[in-house]
Amino acid sequence: MTTNGTIVIVGGGVSGLTTAVTLQEAGWTVHLVAEDIPGRTSLAAGAMWGPYLVEPWKKIREWSLVSLDAFRALADEEASGVRMTTGIEAARHAIPAPEWSELLPDFRPCNADELPSGFVAGYRFTVPLIDMSAYLDYLRRRFLAAGGTSESRRISSLDAIESAAVIVNCAGLGAGLLTGDDDVRPIRGQHVVTENPGLTEFFSEDTGMSPDLVCIYPHSDTVVLGGTAIEGEGSLREDTAAAAAIVERCATIEPRLAAARIIEHRVGVRPTRNEVRVEADKRQDRTPVVHNYGHGGAGVTLSWGCAREVAQLIRMAEGGVGAAP
Ligand SMILES: Cc1cc2nc3c(=O)[nH]c(=O)nc-3n(C[C@H](O)[C@H](O)[C@H](O)COP(=O)(O)OP(=O)(O)OC[C@H]3O[C@@H](n4cnc5c(N)ncnc54)[C@H](O)[C@@H]3O)c2cc1C
Repeated sequence: MTTNGTIVIVGGGVSGLTTAVTLQEAGWTVHLVAEDIPGRTSLAAGAMWGPYLVEPWKKIREWSLVSLDAFRALADEEASGVRMTTGIEAARHAIPAPEWSELLPDFRPCNADELPSGFVAGYRFTVPLIDMSAYLDYLRRRFLAAGGTSESRRISSLDAIESAAVIVNCAGLGAGLLTGDDDVRPIRGQHVVTENPGLTEFFSEDTGMSPDLVCIYPHSDTVVLGGTAIEGEGSLREDTAAAAAIVERCATIEPRLAAARIIEHRVGVRPTRNEVRVEADKRQDRTPVVHNYGHGGAGVTLSWGCAREVAQLIRMAEGGVGAAP
């Protein structure tokens, strides 16, 4: 399937594609293998930069910060689908500022007149907002333009990969099966995509541990409305009742959404783990493996930081693969 000296990445979601771009552009020869390119969960994300449903904080902070810088630069390229966007996160009860607020220079408490009716607290800030269908397409084109290759294929085991110098496991929820890691669990999520009735600012509600989320992410022509977070559910089947409830919740905050034409429903399963796993390992035949999975509700937010760490682990593990810098 591959030649000696090639790094094989399993997974074509945001983790796999970002890692593929990072390694290929750094001088390695990369081949990407994935059942779905792009990965369906990555396509379903909203997506807003913000560490959600992930641990441990020390690593999350570092990875999020690397990605924040990368997304700020990408926002200058229109084709990337990334835009720096201002908006508010609010709650119907008092909320402390999130840990990650210190990473955002314009983060500030909202004035009372900035909050929707029924809300008592909130924060205003600017973050990268990522149109995932445009962005994943951009990443794939950038990887191929740099000389990378890809193949749509499901593998039943990491042993099915022949002749790889290094294997990078970015298989999301599938990584649990490929590695026998019982710590990986699904948190199902759903979004509704509508035409954009003229919104330019994002809104999200701090709903605590509720499975019913509220988020409004405007992209240029579309708005992504969310959402849900159902622990333990791995089905990608669209739930029409959940979709109707999402539109209703969002239209209560932004009445223009009530009549917005629905374009698409997106369902994904957050690949959640007690801790994100970015770690060097070995296959039974001693082939180096680097894991990069378990990103929960923040795979986009962590993508560039985790990819950079994968590159560092490969440099340490390989002892001279290909043209590594
Ligand atoms: C509704 C929703 C909203 C979200 N919003 C945000 C957000 O605003 N911000 C944010 O940062 N994150 C968000 N997330 C989380 C984010 O989408 C995920 O953390 C991220 O997409 C995980 O990416 P991944 O590449 O690891 O996995 P995936 O996108 O699931 O990709 C896994 C890849 O591995 C492949 N694969 C798996 N098993 C095999 C196998 N056996 N053989 C071959 N290929 C295989 C798949 O085909 C796929 O290509 C959201 C998620 C959901 C569901």
